[in-house]
Amino acid sequence: MTLPRILVLGTGGTIAGAGSGATGAAYRPGDLALGTLIAHLDALNLAAELVPQDIAQIGSQDIGWTQWRALHAACVAAIADPAVDGIIITHGTDTAEETGYLLDLTLPTAKPIVLVGAMRAADAVGADGMRNFANAVRVVSDRESCGRGVMLVMGDAVLAARDARKAATSAIDAFRTFPRGPLARVMPATLDWFGPPHRRNEGARYAFPQALPRVAILTAGAGMDAAPVEALLGIGCKGVVLAGMGQGNAPASVLAALSRAAARGVQVVRSARVDEGIVDRNVEVDDDALGLVAARALGPAKARILLMVLIANGMTDAAHIQAAFDGG
Ligand code: GLU
Repeated sequence: MTLPRILVLGTGGTIAGAGSGATGAAYRPGDLALGTLIAHLDALNLAAELVPQDIAQIGSQDIGWTQWRALHAACVAAIADPAVDGIIITHGTDTAEETGYLLDLTLPTAKPIVLVGAMRAADAVGADGMRNFANAVRVVSDRESCGRGVMLVMGDAVLAARDARKAATSAIDAFRTFPRGPLARVMPATLDWFGPPHRRNEGARYAFPQALPRVAILTAGAGMDAAPVEALLGIGCKGVVLAGMGQGNAPASVLAALSRAAARGVQVVRSARVDEGIVDRNVEVDDDALGLVAARALGPAKARILLMVLIANGMTDAAHIQAAFDGG
């Protein structure tokens, strides 16, 4: 039997973290080289041929366009290479939802692409990284894993990158999905998909950005004034994502300032600082009158990624941006 050939792109994170010893608290994310991680994996006798490629060795709070461009290029090459069956990206969990969603928007669905991380450093007692990795291999090796978009494997679950978000700072079961539930339950020896592939043979939705426009997230708070909006415009933001109260609300003076920004060509998207829920158009806020876009199911971090991709792809019209968020 030929083993599946899996490209492993290493970026760092807690899955490659060390330095705490078995019971300590402080550790360094990305401390272990990808080669060391792969050597640990050899001991698991996984039924796959792993081909490592270093992208970075960092905590994912430091990830950005340079690493994203390298990841995207490596995925494009692997998708075109008939010798590669799928891709696993080892990644810190802090921004896994952003990297996953960016790749989801800019890559075809022809081969399985899975981000995997860990909540406990590799040398901590009860470390989850090796198990999560073994689960990721199980997912990528499965014939039914294509056509589902970029996925995230954590805590014995397979999550669509488009729906996943980090919801706990240190619990092993740190990720939640919204609006859809997990795609599958996975363990090293078993995999149960909850439905058929829903994005078979999809091409890339958007071109990968040649540069990232400056898009900021502004979190609304009771009693705030409009000065932060003016400050963001002052540093040249091309877009602003409001992490609003409730269903994307903000004090009237802030909404008025955001509306003035929209009239000047800054793209403004209203999302929610609340963990879960759709932000719809024209509920409490008159988006039509104010020229604003509703983020629908996307939280602030993913709304920012989509808005950057749309602006980078030349989209400047609020109606078209809204249509992209409706389908996001
Ligand atoms: N902040 C680090 C990162 O996101 C460590 C957290 C983690 O990987 O779980 O890479």
